[in-house]
Amino acid sequence: MRPYRGRFFAGLAALFIGASFGLVFPLLAGALIDAAINGGRTSLPLLGSLTINQIAITLAVTIGIQAAGSFNSALSFSHVGQSALADLRSATYGRLLALPMTFFGQRRVGELASRVSTDIAQIEGALIDSLPQACRQVVFLGGGLALIATTSLPLTAVMLGTLPLLIAAAVFFGRRLRRFSRETQDRLADSQTIVEETLQAIASVKSFANERFELERYSTANHATLAVALQAARWRAVFVAFFIAALFGGILIVLWYGALQLQAGALTGGELTRFVLYTTFVGGAMAQSAELFSQVQKTVGATQRVREILRESVEDNSAPANDPNATQPERLRGEVTFDRVSFCYPARPDAPVLHDVELVARPGERIALVGPSGAGKSTLTALLLRFYDPDAGALLIDGRDARSYPLHWLRNQMALVPQDVLLFGGSIRENIAYGRPGAGDQAIEAAARQANAHDFIMSFPEGYATLVGDRGIKLSGGQRQRIAIARALLKNPAILILDEATSSLDSESERLVQDALDRLMEGRTTFVVAHRLATIRDVDHIAVIDGGRVVETGTHDELSARPDGLYRRLSSLQFGPS
Ligand code: ATP
Repeated sequence: MRPYRGRFFAGLAALFIGASFGLVFPLLAGALIDAAINGGRTSLPLLGSLTINQIAITLAVTIGIQAAGSFNSALSFSHVGQSALADLRSATYGRLLALPMTFFGQRRVGELASRVSTDIAQIEGALIDSLPQACRQVVFLGGGLALIATTSLPLTAVMLGTLPLLIAAAVFFGRRLRRFSRETQDRLADSQTIVEETLQAIASVKSFANERFELERYSTANHATLAVALQAARWRAVFVAFFIAALFGGILIVLWYGALQLQAGALTGGELTRFVLYTTFVGGAMAQSAELFSQVQKTVGATQRVREILRESVEDNSAPANDPNATQPERLRGEVTFDRVSFCYPARPDAPVLHDVELVARPGERIALVGPSGAGKSTLTALLLRFYDPDAGALLIDGRDARSYPLHWLRNQMALVPQDVLLFGGSIRENIAYGRPGAGDQAIEAAARQANAHDFIMSFPEGYATLVGDRGIKLSGGQRQRIAIARALLKNPAILILDEATSSLDSESERLVQDALDRLMEGRTTFVVAHRLATIRDVDHIAVIDGGRVVETGTHDELSARPDGLYRRLSSLQFGPS
């Protein structure tokens, strides 16, 4: 909230003024009664001697000032609270985006989304409702007690006597409430994860007719949330009940003592009225504080988790300052060397995925990575994109350690055409421009033409402005791929990674896609993760990977000539024995 402190203090001042005039109310109300008893007049500090009507008018004025103060403070606090929240949302989202892939490998996406939304909603309640209320209660409590003290010290002592008990209770219950709140939010995140995952994969859910299964899974998670929430509610109820009993007990004692004083003639009727009103003010403030306190505990539970995200370390996007070669070339040539690279995923440190991988791609070469499923092909491309760094050995790009380039600069020199192309909701134009945000229409169209996408795009009535559905469901697989190729062409990378689609397209659309790919690969170092060996006959090198090792390298002809090589075995599985 620091950036908005000016507005915050303005709100605080308005609140202080409003609440102070609220405190004048019992004073004037008491005076009204004293005036009635004393023949229509009474004298007040600062205001002198006033009639009943004058007192009533003064009272009305103070109410007006109080209302104006409340209006201004409510507005200021909302402004501060909402602005701070908007910042917090952006900060959390920005932080999430900047986190390394390791983080995403260990968390579920739904859980993250839940953190951002529900925890921040909880914080919102605290900032906008609880905080101003707490400030107001402090004024009422402090001011009320001070004014009571000027009337009767013994009575004030009675009021204050109950405080230590209340504070001890607040601390004791607070701990439990905070823990339950955190647990409730965790459970809530679990059930939201289910919703998000199933909706994302709704086609699978329906095709397996698993609606009932998913509903049960959700209900289980939902009931777990309910159980924790009810347990928290029980503690809250005990706390509030305890608080109210203690509070009214205190008020009762004050009233009893006040009545005795009035009977003995030590207090006037007006004084007692004032006293009773102040006592209810103070009591009300205390009761509210109890409620606010449990609210604050809940919020602390929620902020803990948001802060966890904000504290995670993000990807380092700067090049090491002491690197002697740190001057950036305009563009990479595209030479890639895996130099005895070994790697295991941080999530599974005991399961090495790559062992001593040696692989060299000269600028402009096409390298195919083939091998059985789970061999480590995608992992190699993940290292190339620097989603992860090797545990041993080094990845060299243009002869320099990949880590010596600024991360975003390096990734901007590469493009990935994935197996399953995900289009963002928006127009086709926007989807192609994702390769280079801000690209002009001409550049976009040129890229689409090269990617063999222009014709089918123009066959839609709205052309490039055609909206693609939630995940691009209106386009066929081959069309989506051509959009992805256009995107990559627009980016104009030095290094290209193609994760070849496993499912084959019909031969016409396969020809269009292959043709577009050939154009895309021209003059760029390309790694093709190949599943169908037919498509890689004319690449420069084929690296056969098995169990995280490069077991064979060579051209298609060389590898096919090896009598008992893995490549030959794999191709005879696909094409039949040669
Ligand atoms: P496919 O041809 O089936 O796509 P692949 O050769 O691309 O397989 P990789 O995806 O690189 O294989 O996986 C290699 C190994 O690493 C597998 O055993 C896999 O279980 C493991 N693995 C992949 N991704 C992760 C991850 N994020 N965390 C932990 N282990 C992983």
